[in-house]
Amino acid sequence: MTVLGVDIGGTKIAAGVVADNAEVLRTVTVPTRASEGYEVSIGQVYKAVEECLDGDVAAIGICSPGPLNPKTGVVLHTPNLPWRNVPLAELVGQRFHLPCKVDNDANAAGLAEALFGAARGYSSVFYVTLSTGIGTGIVLDRKIYHGKNGFAAEGGHVTVDYRSPLVCNCGNIGCIEAYSSGTAIEKRFGVRAEELARGVEAGDPTALQRLDEICLALGAWLGSMISLLDPDVIVIGGGVARIGDPLFERLRRITPTRTINPFAADTPIVPAALGDNVGILGAAALVLA
Ligand SMILES: [Zn+2]
Repeated sequence: MTVLGVDIGGTKIAAGVVADNAEVLRTVTVPTRASEGYEVSIGQVYKAVEECLDGDVAAIGICSPGPLNPKTGVVLHTPNLPWRNVPLAELVGQRFHLPCKVDNDANAAGLAEALFGAARGYSSVFYVTLSTGIGTGIVLDRKIYHGKNGFAAEGGHVTVDYRSPLVCNCGNIGCIEAYSSGTAIEKRFGVRAEELARGVEAGDPTALQRLDEICLALGAWLGSMISLLDPDVIVIGGGVARIGDPLFERLRRITPTRTINPFAADTPIVPAALGDNVGILGAAALVLA
């Protein structure tokens, strides 16, 4: 069986036909054309699907920017697209006469890691993408945990300091996203995450001190996540995670000291395994699981 995975971003839409062994058979990319309005940008989604589709595709999975409701497939609104209350799953499903599911990128990527990647074989998975924001996904026995309204697992907006001077993009104060995301690194330290990574690699003391600070917040937060979820594995992806070993070593050291869970030191904290295709694989996983 093959399915189609569609990854909608603010500037481009990537679609790919994916086999049930996670092999990406072919892909297309089209511009989102977000600034040209709703009709044009939704038309680009259809175009990406049409260009990839063949008779063997059994279902379509879509990752979309949100907030969205994965239970109904409705995208409520998104900062990057001129969309309001778009019933995306229904629109695409009816147009192409195929089952269609929609979810956000962190949930979908977490599922893909659980099915095909670094969390393969584990039954409870906490997935983190450290990127411009901090997205998370909870996967239990190969299913995304959505909660009552489809808004569960917004772990990036868990408060780590309730009197924090740092205001998060979501309007709350003291979210972990306001401390350790790519955007937060730029705001707090005036450097991009890639520059920080280069400084860390070169052994620059200022860069290492900043990494300590970022990891102290992340480790305290991950400790709380372990206290809450006691997951089998924690998988971390996203651009900031490309700092690599220096980041993971710190998190493995700090996290077990910030939880009541006496087994936390045994919880693997591992890098995501799926590379550039994680968006397409995540979308495909929605209809393969
Ligand atoms: Zn927030």
